[in-house]
Amino acid sequence: MAKPISLISIIVPVYNETESIDWFHSELLKVLYKLTQYMFEVIYVNDGSKDDSLTKIMQLSGGKNCNVQVVDLSRNFGKEAALSAGIATATGDALISLDADGQYPVELIPDFIEKWRGGAEIVIGIRASNQGEGFVKRYGSKLFYPAFNKLTGVELIPRSTDFRLIDRIVADEFNKLTENNRITRGLIDWLGFRHDFIEFDAKPRQFGTPTYTFKKLVQLAVDTFTSLSAVPLFFAGYTGLFFMAISFVLGGFILIEQVILNDPWHIHFTGTAMLGVLITFLVGAILSAQGLIGMYVARVLSESQRRPLYIVRKTIKL
Ligand code: UDP
Ligand code: MG
Repeated sequence: MAKPISLISIIVPVYNETESIDWFHSELLKVLYKLTQYMFEVIYVNDGSKDDSLTKIMQLSGGKNCNVQVVDLSRNFGKEAALSAGIATATGDALISLDADGQYPVELIPDFIEKWRGGAEIVIGIRASNQGEGFVKRYGSKLFYPAFNKLTGVELIPRSTDFRLIDRIVADEFNKLTENNRITRGLIDWLGFRHDFIEFDAKPRQFGTPTYTFKKLVQLAVDTFTSLSAVPLFFAGYTGLFFMAISFVLGGFILIEQVILNDPWHIHFTGTAMLGVLITFLVGAILSAQGLIGMYVARVLSESQRRPLYIVRKTIKL
C-alpha cells in the first residue's frame, strides 16, 4: 500500500498587506512546488484588513500540489485571534504559520518539515538576530524574557517567533483551549510536546511598516505576563510583608528602648515617629491583605481559563 501523502497547512495572518501579498505568495509557491512529495493547503486569514488585501488574496491561485483558502474575519481581531482561526480551519497533518510580510524566510519551510519528519511535534523558528527591528523591540525582548522566566517560573523561549510548525496532535490540543486572551506562542509552549528549533535571520519587512507599535508591544508583554502567570498579583502581598517586617523591627526597637528600658540612649522617640511606624504597619497589613485577595483571584483566573489538567500524547497498550 502506498504511503498516504501528508497534507501540510500553511497559515498566514494578513492585516493590510496589499503590497506584499502577490510577492509573498509567489515566493511561497516557488518553495512549495519543489516539495512534490507533499500536498499543501495555504490558508490566508484576512484579519479585517482595511485595504485591498482581501481582493488581492481572492485573485491568488494554487497549483499542482497546493490549494489556497481564505478565512475572512468580520473585523480586525488581532494577529493572535487570526492565527487561532487559521489553526482551527487547517486540516493538515502538520501546520506551519508564518507572516505575510516576508520577514520569515519561506525557503526554510523544507527544514521545518524535515525536523517534523524526524519526530519533532513542534518546530520553532528562533530569530538569530534582530536586524531591521526597532530599538524598543530589540532591547524590550532582551529585558522581557529573562524577567518573565525569573518571575514566573514559566519557561518562554527567547527570540522564539510565530514562525513554527505544529503537528496535528498539537493543533487538536490547541483547539481545545478556550481562553480568550491568548498569546499563541505562549500557549503552544505551555502545551509541551517534543520541541525542535530552527534558527533564522529575520529579514527586514519588505513593504509597509510593522503594525506592532510600541503601545501594542507593551500590551503584548503585559498580556503574555498576565495570561501565563498570576505572579504579578502577588507583588502587592510581598510589598506588604516587607512593610510589616520593617514596622515590626522599628516598633519592637521603640518598645524595648523607650518603654521597657526607659530610653537609655536618649533618643526621645516623638509621637510622630511612633505614628509613622504605626502607619507603616497598617499599610503593610492592607497590602498583605491585597496579596491574599490576589491569591484567590489567581485561583479564579486559573479555573476560568479552563486549561486541561494534563495533555496526553498517546496511550499505549502493551
Ligand atoms: N497581523 C494580523 N492582524 C493584526 C496585525 C498583524 O493578522 O492585527 C499580521 C500581519 O499581516 C503579518 C503578521 O500578522 O502577517 C505580523 O505582523 P507585523 O509584521 O506587523 O508584526 P511584527 O513583524 O512586527 O511582529
Ligand atoms: Mg513583521
